[in-house]
Amino acid sequence: MTNPPLHRRLDSDKKPIIIAGPCSIESQSQFLKTLKGLDLSKVDYIRGGIWKPRTRPGSFEGMGEVAFEWVKEVQKELGFKFATEVASTEHVDIALKNGAGLLWIGARTTVNPFNVQEIAEALRGVDLPVFVKNPINPDLSLWKGALERLLKCDVKNLGAIHRGFQTFQQSKYRNTPLWQIPMELKSEFPDLPLLCDPSHIGGKRSLIAELSQRAMDLDFDGLMVETHIDPDNALSDNAQQLTPDAFGLLLDSLIFRNHTS
Ligand code: PEP
Ligand code: MN
Repeated sequence: MTNPPLHRRLDSDKKPIIIAGPCSIESQSQFLKTLKGLDLSKVDYIRGGIWKPRTRPGSFEGMGEVAFEWVKEVQKELGFKFATEVASTEHVDIALKNGAGLLWIGARTTVNPFNVQEIAEALRGVDLPVFVKNPINPDLSLWKGALERLLKCDVKNLGAIHRGFQTFQQSKYRNTPLWQIPMELKSEFPDLPLLCDPSHIGGKRSLIAELSQRAMDLDFDGLMVETHIDPDNALSDNAQQLTPDAFGLLLDSLIFRNHTS
């Protein structure tokens, strides 16, 4: 049986889709300063975590709905499309009400078909892009299943994000890339835009460039990279975020062999 075509590529001219911005929105000034450091003409969507699914309780869990007020203020000043993670139907409602331009389902949510089904129903028929990160564990079926649940709810602008997998292998990465898994997804769903999130794969700044280049060499459709005005003092994922300047240098250094720049 053949799979249904998931959907056309977001960018038919094959320009890589670039998403950048902080792991978490911590304050209006942190968000504004980060964005002022970026060349927004090179970024398609600004990311910013509003609700953070943290592994251990007591970690910073995001600022919640109030952060949308900051996003809208900064949007008035700088103008950009905003992307954030949703993990429940309540998040979906709030994000849609506040004009989010792209939503993604995080790795800790993709593992749970009940959650994914509820989110898919809350998103029924939406036009905005919805991306699904791979589940934390290396299970291609679970990743495909989440995409299929969204498809069945008529979410047309669907994509996938590779953010690496938790394994028991010793690895220099925070989450082992296991590139063959996203490559298999890509071969089964050639029209599905597939982005790479080198930040959560690498877990440290020094690995972001090589992972990003590898993804481009493997013909991924774009990148989602965490960037923060003061990464060392970030409230989440401080070891992996790039400064806006370092992100600019990364973009300049990448060779987009199969893409137009
Ligand atoms: C994130 O994007 O900040 C995040 C929590 O990612 P993941 O779901 O890949 O762990
Ligand atoms: Mn993060």
